[in-house]
Amino acid sequence: MDIPKLIYIPKAQYSSQISNYDGLIVVFNYSESISLKTSILDTYSKEIFDQFKIDASIGKNISIIHAESAPGMRIILVPIKSKFDDTDDVRIYGEIGRKFIERVLEAGIKKPIIYFATEPKNNDGNINKDFINFKQVTLLGALSGLYIPLEAREFLNKSHDIDEIGVMVENETEDISEQLKIVEAYQEGRQLAQDIGGTSPERGNPLQCAEIIENIFKKTTVDVKIIKEYSIIEKEYPLMAAVGRSSVCVPKHAPCVVKLTYKSPDQTKVKDNLFFVGKGVTFDSGGMDIKVGGAMRGMCRDKGGASICAGITYIAQKLALKHVNITAYLGFVRNSIGSHSYVCDEVIVSRSGRRVLVANTDAEGRMTMGDLLTEARENVITNKLYENAKIFTIATLTGHVGRAYGPYPAAVENGQAVKKSVGRTLQDIGQIWGDPFEVSRIRREDYMVVKGNGITEDVIQGNNKPSTMTNRAHQFPVAFLNLVSCLDKHGTNSDNPIAYTHLDIAGCYGKVPNNWGLGEVTGNPIVAIASSFLK
Ligand SMILES: [Zn+2]
Repeated sequence: MDIPKLIYIPKAQYSSQISNYDGLIVVFNYSESISLKTSILDTYSKEIFDQFKIDASIGKNISIIHAESAPGMRIILVPIKSKFDDTDDVRIYGEIGRKFIERVLEAGIKKPIIYFATEPKNNDGNINKDFINFKQVTLLGALSGLYIPLEAREFLNKSHDIDEIGVMVENETEDISEQLKIVEAYQEGRQLAQDIGGTSPERGNPLQCAEIIENIFKKTTVDVKIIKEYSIIEKEYPLMAAVGRSSVCVPKHAPCVVKLTYKSPDQTKVKDNLFFVGKGVTFDSGGMDIKVGGAMRGMCRDKGGASICAGITYIAQKLALKHVNITAYLGFVRNSIGSHSYVCDEVIVSRSGRRVLVANTDAEGRMTMGDLLTEARENVITNKLYENAKIFTIATLTGHVGRAYGPYPAAVENGQAVKKSVGRTLQDIGQIWGDPFEVSRIRREDYMVVKGNGITEDVIQGNNKPSTMTNRAHQFPVAFLNLVSCLDKHGTNSDNPIAYTHLDIAGCYGKVPNNWGLGEVTGNPIVAIASSFLK
């Protein structure tokens, strides 16, 4: 992936680097008086105070001042206004990173240095641990502002407006080059997720999504397998085949399954075998339970889960991680409407042999992932990976998660995942990486509503109301996924428990636009997942 390069500049090299850059961005803690006493800023104190004489707002908001000997003769002052306490979190740095990069682009700056002049400190003078990743979060915020979506890149024939960013820190306690490599890998993975997830229904049809992934992994160690034959999909993944049934008559809309495998270069060091199953619904009309009242708008972004799975695999290979193996199953399918559409009241036998009573064709995400989840379970069993396996489903699954948690994703765990603190890890690590998670539990009520009568059906797919009108509508689909994949046989009191966690990302994957456009695809929560589990 093509992203701006991040170059570490030790302070001792600053003066020799000034002519190579064209702007100095100073990120510092806001205070009433500008008292920026650092070795770098002392050089410019006259210019800063001269400017302050004619503009009292200098230092209060993002401002650009002229300084003859600075890179590009300009300094961009970026105050962080936060108490660095429980009323705030490290996202403030990401938000300000996004803001200053927009200002920098307006100013025509092409190659800036970002200089972290101060640190987020508690009253006792120690750095606040919740803000410990402030540099990385700032950089990820800045890089997010430089991302140009895939179709726009193709139309405009350019990839980004800034090729390189220098990074300098006042408190040089460590070489941050490794941190910058991680930020670059996260940004590249996120960009891949945005590319796939943000494409329009035609540019991002199932086969084109598979092609983007195939191309990106071509020169890597990741093994890519694509299943396009509908007859095989029907046999191996009957639930997903039902969703795609009416799309097959248009070849470019036909479904496909993409399997990705990343193997650690040193198998003796592997601690985690991670399995990801992603929902890649390239357009969701709702099917025969058609989305009405304008609810179909934006439904080309229903492939966020699959896109994140691809991005996570990308990050692992980019960092050549030794402690993890990754297997990802991505189901790309278009939920079309036609005379051959699947309908409610059908009973479909799943890969696991359990019979699913279809209730609502708009609940196609759990159908798409159900059999892929079964395959992940089979993989764990065949390779006897129970001890160190973690299975995830990732999907823009329900509107309910947004009603429950607003813009935050939810991790919904089975008993073994709770035991292994999977959700807790996402919550704790996501918090300090500016990509926060909420944690939900599957309850017995969730199983009760999806359990079939055992005579004519084994599992009920859902109800016939929108998720936003249904209680526990982001939790009960996980009970369905547990039952349909037979993961319920691997509970905490079984001989072979398997940790399974579902991530509902519908609330965080896209931003609500302030106009009538489609809004931005964020690629969240890829940073939380990567920082929690990619070691
Ligand atoms: Zn749907």
